[in-house]
Amino acid sequence: MEKIYFVGAGPGDKELITLKAYKLLSKADIVIYAGSLVNPELLEYCKDDCIIYDSAKMNLEEIIEVMENGAKNDKLVVRLQTGDISIYGSIREQGEELKKLGIEYESIAGVSSFLGAAASMGIEYTVPEISQSLIITRIEGRTPVPEKEKLELFASHQTSMAIFLSVQNIDKVSKRLIEGGYKSETPVAVVYKASWPDEKIVLGNLDNIAKKVKEEGIKKTALILVGDFLGDEYNYSKLYDKFFTHEYRKGVK
Ligand code: SAH
Repeated sequence: MEKIYFVGAGPGDKELITLKAYKLLSKADIVIYAGSLVNPELLEYCKDDCIIYDSAKMNLEEIIEVMENGAKNDKLVVRLQTGDISIYGSIREQGEELKKLGIEYESIAGVSSFLGAAASMGIEYTVPEISQSLIITRIEGRTPVPEKEKLELFASHQTSMAIFLSVQNIDKVSKRLIEGGYKSETPVAVVYKASWPDEKIVLGNLDNIAKKVKEEGIKKTALILVGDFLGDEYNYSKLYDKFFTHEYRKGVK
């Protein structure tokens, strides 16, 4: 019996996948891809006779059934999901169902959209002495968020944040971030479809970003990046400081 491969499809650009992902796609007999977010151009890497399913139209049972039939018939099944599968990938439930059936799986890392967005902007989330932590979160939608992870509580750290699945509520997000402790002039970038040809980057601050995002008509497939890492203030790292000595290099006196 074959195992199932959970493969990160990257943020959009069809060249932003790993070599492992590319090789698996080109050998796959069956691909179940998340049609709502995955760039369909990635399917060009598949064989002509590869059977393609769009999971946007399927429920969990149907997805598992395709995987089970494939694995039992020794077919190479790839489950292709946007970005990296470990971030809002709903893979835990798929993995648990496979375990019940005695089917093994392997995950192939992908470039998450928060990394694609940072690359598009050429920025660093961890600017020395400005912010050394990145919080990845979302606000509640149909899926609730644990009480202890309320946006206001995270905001009290005033560190870098990448907020997924929430752009449709940008008003609420900015208001709650300010209530939680960020200053209203804290810089914000909303990155829509990072790495796709129709990518858009909207820059502003917590006070004006909601208006700007609405003017651009952005309602989904976007990340809200918040924090002073986007601002004008920065410091140089010690790592490349010529006066700084470390394991691999002696600093000048
Ligand atoms: N596993 C994915 C996230 C899936 S949840 C990852 O690692 O990126 C879907 C959310 O991800 C979207 O609502 C949006 O917030 C974000 N997203 C996915 N692709 C994106 C892209 N290319 N640009 C900006 N945001 C994206």
